This record gives sequence, C-alpha cells and structure tokens, in this order.
Amino acid sequence: MMLASALALISADISQANLRSILTHLGTYPNRNINTDYCTKAAEWIAGEYRKIPGMDVELMYYTVKQGRRVVEDREVVQVIATLKGQTDRRVLMGAHFDTINLTGDPRTAVAPGINDDGSGVAATLECARLMSQSKWKNTVVFVAFSGEEQGLLGSAALAARAKNEKWQIDALLNNDIVGGSQSGALKDKKRVRVFSEESDKHNSRELARWIEWNARGKVKGFSPWLVLRRDRFQRGGDHTSFNNAGFTGIRFTESIEALDHQHNETDTISGIDFSYLANVARVNLVSLQALANAGAAPTEVRYDPKQAHTTILRWKGTPGTRYVVYWRSSSSSVYEGALEVGESSEATIKNVNKDDHVFAVGAVGGVPISAN
Ligand SMILES: [Zn+2]
Repeated sequence: MMLASALALISADISQANLRSILTHLGTYPNRNINTDYCTKAAEWIAGEYRKIPGMDVELMYYTVKQGRRVVEDREVVQVIATLKGQTDRRVLMGAHFDTINLTGDPRTAVAPGINDDGSGVAATLECARLMSQSKWKNTVVFVAFSGEEQGLLGSAALAARAKNEKWQIDALLNNDIVGGSQSGALKDKKRVRVFSEESDKHNSRELARWIEWNARGKVKGFSPWLVLRRDRFQRGGDHTSFNNAGFTGIRFTESIEALDHQHNETDTISGIDFSYLANVARVNLVSLQALANAGAAPTEVRYDPKQAHTTILRWKGTPGTRYVVYWRSSSSSVYEGALEVGESSEATIKNVNKDDHVFAVGAVGGVPISAN
C-alpha cells in the first residue's frame, strides 16, 4: 500500500491482522454496555493492550453516570486514555467509543457485539497508536477509548469537561465511529470515508476537515476522505460533538455506506467488517496524525490586506521557527484548490487569486489552518 509521506517517518504499515485480532477479542464479550461489568472488563483489556506499546502512559478514567435514559442505575464507568508524550503540551487526539448497545433488549443482558459500532474505531485507534509509538513527535498524541457514547456521549462529555478544566491545548480530535464496513445490500463504496465537521466561530472543525482531505491526497492509494458539511448524520451524534461543544476542534470519520440493519443489535459482527477498507481509514488517520503531531502552533490574527486587487496579500502573527502554508479555494468549493508554502514568513502574496471570489486560510506546516478575515 502506498503511504508516501508516512514512510518517511514510520516504516511499518497498518496491519489488517492486528485489526482482526483486536476485533476478534472485542467480539468475545456478550456486550460492552456501560450498565454491565463486561464494559469494565473490556476497558481493562484495552488498557492492557495500550500498556504493551512502548512509551505509552495509560490511564483508566472513571466518571459517574446517573440513572436515566438508557442508564439502569447510578454507576461508576471507566474509559481509557493512552498518551504518547511529545516535546510540547499541545495535543492531538484520536478516539473511538468501545461501549455498545442493543436497543431491542435488556441493556444488561442483550447481546451487542458492536464490532463495527464502534469496535472498528477502537481497533483503528489502537493500531495507529502502535505505529505512532515508533517515532518521536513534537506534540503530544492522545488515544482515547470512550465509553457511554450510546447513552448520550457521556464519556466524551466527561473528558471534554476535564480537558477544559485542565486547560488542555487540543489542536485536533479525530473521532472514528463506524469505520469498518463498505457495503449495505447492493450499495458499495470502498474508496471513501466520510468526514463530518461543524462550522463554528468557537472552534476550527470545518477547517480541520478541509485540511484532512487536502493532506491525505495521494497518500492512501485509491482512497480518500469525503467531506460532509454537517456535524453528523441525520438526527444522530458522536463523541466529536462533546469536544466541539466545549470549544475544541474535532471531526468524525464514518464509513460512507453504513449497514444500518446491523447497528445496535446482535448482528453487528465481524462478518460486517471489510478489513482492507478499515485499514485504509486507519491510514487516513495515520497520515493526519503524523502531520499534526509534528506541526508548529497555528498562526493567529490571519488578515487580508484590504486593498482591492486581483492578487491577494495575507498577514498573520506567527511563532519563531514555524513554517507556514497558505491554502485557498473558490468560495463555492468546499475543498482547498491551491496551497503555497511560504517558510517562516508572516506575510504572503498569492498572485492572480482574488479574495473577492476565493477564500484563504493559513496554517503551520502540517497543522490545522486558520481562516483569514
Ligand atoms: Zn457509534
């Protein structure tokens, strides 16, 4: 598999055998519903897998849930946070929820293998962690196995609140939820993974999504991110939204054709996984993580020179030693159409691209761009 930029930093590739072995183990629990001890046991197993990775600092994070919607009684619940410390305290997060639900039966006893929703994301995250550990990074990379997603994003909300309280600097959260399948009946799509993002002035989710698409171009053979310009699928949600709501930049990856009949019941099994597809989603995450983990701090105060002209001039506040890239797209395009590296400069001139009909953003090399205004 082609992984042009990844090979420069990490010599190994995503292993389909590893993904399969993680999902095979997750399938041994009758369910991983937070109302059961299976959930706790699964968290302990996941933590154990992270502890096998050199350099990984592993935490079991406990939080309490109150009796309520889909929660049988007040309970202490656990989720897993594995941290690969970098040179800076700026953090890049990759996560997925390991809890499962069967909506047709008793939450404590109904069988809910949750292999695609969201064992697939848990496996991709663990496999990316294994590969990321093989190199040193500028920024800190955090791998999360969330719980309580199926009761209303409870675990991610608990971690986002804690991150805000502890003043974490989160450059990006990559949430992977239902990323292992490529087919539903006659519908197939092996070539794309959807990227859901939210437009907001409180965080930078939409620009992160655009950058992910740009950065992945040509790096994962025959496969690409497909931007969906909404926060999530129709009337459904995911853990990235907990972070967005707390003001952090995050997006959601989800397969492009979901097997809707095999969600939240006993039929979400390993037979629904297309391992070559899941490996490609993991590769998109990996090439994103590698760039983000090496990026300098984002520029601030990215401004257009106000003078009318067919050439666009931009200025921003930078950090010494950081190199920048200017990105642009026509105002009707959701993806970047051009980019120019400008070194350590804090000013750029883009010839014959007019700010009247184009939109610009500036980012540190490998980092999430900031929209100009
Ligand atoms: Zn899910």
